[in-house]
Amino acid sequence: MGLSGVSWGQLDLHDAWIPAKNRIGGEGQGFAIFSTHFSFWRCAMAAAAIGAAESALDKAKNRLRSRNAFSGPIGRFTHLQQEYAKHASRLYMAWLLIQSTARRIELKQYSYVDAAMAKAESVEAAIAAVQWSMLVHGAFGYSAEAHLEKALRDLLGLRIADGTTDVLRGQVARGLLGETLYALSIGREIDLYSPIRERQLW
Ligand SMILES: Cc1cc2nc3c(=O)[nH]c(=O)nc-3n(C[C@H](O)[C@H](O)[C@H](O)COP(=O)(O)OP(=O)(O)OC[C@H]3O[C@@H](n4cnc5c(N)ncnc54)[C@H](O)[C@@H]3O)c2cc1C
Repeated sequence: MGLSGVSWGQLDLHDAWIPAKNRIGGEGQGFAIFSTHFSFWRCAMAAAAIGAAESALDKAKNRLRSRNAFSGPIGRFTHLQQEYAKHASRLYMAWLLIQSTARRIELKQYSYVDAAMAKAESVEAAIAAVQWSMLVHGAFGYSAEAHLEKALRDLLGLRIADGTTDVLRGQVARGLLGETLYALSIGREIDLYSPIRERQLW
């Protein structure tokens, strides 16, 4: 549906035997390597989402100034100004979170929670901004000529790839609320009286 620059395929392994010399990392490190990959890649996806949405918001800005309806630019309508401000602010907040997560990654302080937060909220903020930009462009926004539909299709793919928004928000909740409630949410058995380990945000 989107992301047409990305190659697609499926790999099925049946009775596959991989010699130990081909193992990446040490024994038992698989999940840690996977998490490191996710922290990096989710951050990159979040940045791509914000880039696409910024472009859509720039188009909306031009449209607010250039489209005249009822004897004046549509940008004079304060409800449109309010929405513009909201989307610009949400994208900027998401961008700051991405930068902070990227800095941690650079320092090799991989944070599963930060990366999950950055990807989930950046993609959702980006989808909302692109949809609003389409609306501001009226019927033209719904045409391929407006160059907004591709951004939307791509973003809907990013919303699913490398963990859906729902799953990532679940990971954030797990980090902030501790393991017990998460374990209960997926029906995993847990000692309800075990000490709660939770991540503090500030
Ligand atoms: C563009 C794109 C690129 C991709 N690239 C890759 C790739 O390179 N490598 C790869 O291995 N995979 C890739 N995927 C697959 C992707 O990781 C999965 O599609 C994604 O993790 C969702 O899994 P699923 O499709 O099995 O959906 P399901 O797990 O069936 O989810 C269905 C719905 O249930 C919700 N749900 C499921 N579990 C939970 C839960 N625990 N808590 C809350 N909600 C839940 C989901 O949010 C979703 O809305 C890609 C997918 C897309 C769209």
